Amino acid sequence: MSNPHINDTHNPSMKSWVESANDPATDFPIQNLALCAFVAEHDGHTHGHLGVAIGDQVLDVSMLAMSGALGDPEGDMAYMLHSPAWNFVAATPHVWGDLRARLQEFLREDAAGGQRMRRLREKALTPIAATKFMLPMTIFDYTDFYASKHHATNVGSMFRPDNPLLPNYRHVPIGYHGRASSLVVSGTPVRRPLGQQSPPDGEPGAGPAFGPCKLLDYEMELGVYIGAGNRLGEPIPISRAAECLFGMGILNDWSARDVQKWEYQPLGPFLAKNFASSLSPFVITMDALAPFRTAGPEREAGDPQPLPYLRGSGDWALDITVEVHLLSEQMRRRGMSPVRLSRGSFRDMYWTVDQLLAHHASNGCNMQPGDLLGSGTISGRAPDSRGCLLELTWQGNGPDGKPLPRKAVELPTGETRTFLADGDEVIMKAYCEREGFRRIGFGECRGVVMPAPVLA
Ligand code: MN
Repeated sequence: MSNPHINDTHNPSMKSWVESANDPATDFPIQNLALCAFVAEHDGHTHGHLGVAIGDQVLDVSMLAMSGALGDPEGDMAYMLHSPAWNFVAATPHVWGDLRARLQEFLREDAAGGQRMRRLREKALTPIAATKFMLPMTIFDYTDFYASKHHATNVGSMFRPDNPLLPNYRHVPIGYHGRASSLVVSGTPVRRPLGQQSPPDGEPGAGPAFGPCKLLDYEMELGVYIGAGNRLGEPIPISRAAECLFGMGILNDWSARDVQKWEYQPLGPFLAKNFASSLSPFVITMDALAPFRTAGPEREAGDPQPLPYLRGSGDWALDITVEVHLLSEQMRRRGMSPVRLSRGSFRDMYWTVDQLLAHHASNGCNMQPGDLLGSGTISGRAPDSRGCLLELTWQGNGPDGKPLPRKAVELPTGETRTFLADGDEVIMKAYCEREGFRRIGFGECRGVVMPAPVLA
């Protein structure tokens, strides 16, 4: 089947003069052009610049725009000159399409040479490993969904064994409003939160406690960045999703499970979630992901069809592999490599990204360039595809209907984990691979757990 979203910018034979971008294993070939923002230093001061990942380097797009190497800096490209984030570009699909082609022109192996170009190329590249990243978009609002039916069913089975999947799940994409202020870029340490926890089971009369979270977890999610938005009161029809979905990144929705269990009824997630959420530094644009679009998930027999406003073009599922790795403090001290805890696929989601967007705006709620929609934990059918420890260490429910004792994950040091310990680093990865196309990677989303603060 031919894919109407593919064009010359996806041509797998295109190569770059940046040698590391031609390595088949790289996340960032010339066909990707993952967007980032970083701290640039020159003439003794620092400021935010926009960049694009290419191989193991970051290309300074702000510098190129200023030098005129991307074309007329007075025209559309002027948007980028003084902006510390990609929001303006994201809001204008034709500007981004044009920029993608111009960046490829500049980066391709057979690009025009000459002494000026050679100097510019040298000046504009910095190794990714030496770059201090900022969030790639200014994020005004953050919403987290619950789009994996496998995840919803597993978690529902633990909390409500006789009624795991609530009746609304198959009709309405479930979500809640998160908090944008505590979104942090990959590499930022994450403090174990303090919180209120439920009284212990089987101790009638005991009250709740307040203290460091004891059941700290990660959630492997992907985030979708909004490009063009909508006016308040005017829904976005699902047919317009392509204009409004700009790109994606990795999202770790850190979760305090003991706090969550106590606080979530009747209004849903709150302090168990908003202490921190980590984002990878790169926006992988929907253009770069086009070769990996595929038919939406088949609904199981007995599942209702979505209501008409949620019926899309049918090819908004994305074949993206996601992995979670863990590196404990002891492993780090002993120079060991991180161990993989899970591997799943974004293809297994019940609701697709166009449905999440159309649903969010269906009541007229206005989306703005840079808004972030979290997918919810990405879990599949297989136990090793489960995207959080709450599910990974769950062994099902016993004859009494209650969850069996948790089975700890074993680390190569002999340490075990049912939930995260201080010093643990969670490392999330995502990538797309398909015969006939270059591999498109998301980079990494990392975060080390720091000890809880001490209350004075
Ligand atoms: Mn979540």
